[in-house]
Amino acid sequence: MKKVFVSILITFSFNAFSQKKGTIDTINCKYRENKVSICPICKTDKKVLSIFYGLTTTKFMKENKNKYYFEGCEITGCDPNWYCKTDDYKF
Ligand SMILES: [Zn+2]
Repeated sequence: MKKVFVSILITFSFNAFSQKKGTIDTINCKYRENKVSICPICKTDKKVLSIFYGLTTTKFMKENKNKYYFEGCEITGCDPNWYCKTDDYKF
């Protein structure tokens, strides 16, 4: 009985640890390869902006609204790099 209890405990703590550690698989992140700013939908970079993560000032946002797409502070480790205004699509 004790053995069973111990093995359940080990399983639980292992799962909790692995979930906490590797919530997002950054290695296999689909955005990782997106080095070029060509939109996979419209096949151009005419309306593609670089995604800006983090806090910034309203002034900076206004001055750079044609340069960056401001995504805010929520990053997961597997986040898109580009935003296409034509298709409203992040990649
Ligand atoms: Zn596009």
